[in-house]
Amino acid sequence: MMKCYDCMNEGVDKESTGTCTFCGKGICSTHTKKLELPVSVGTYPNFKRLPEPLPKFVCNECADNIITDSFD
Ligand SMILES: [Zn+2]
Ligand SMILES: [Zn+2]
Repeated sequence: MMKCYDCMNEGVDKESTGTCTFCGKGICSTHTKKLELPVSVGTYPNFKRLPEPLPKFVCNECADNIITDSFD
């Protein structure tokens, strides 16, 4: 089982409950952020956007980077 990377940075020894979708590091529930990303299926020009966004679990660091990038 992987340790939570962000807890490790804070000197806490805690098991991760998942992995960051983007950087792949282990994260516990406290350090997990849920992002809802729009999903497209199929290949161009026949792709369509799914009505429901796909929840992705990412670490705080990646969430901050993604939010900064998309709203900058
Ligand atoms: Zn943690
Ligand atoms: Zn990450």
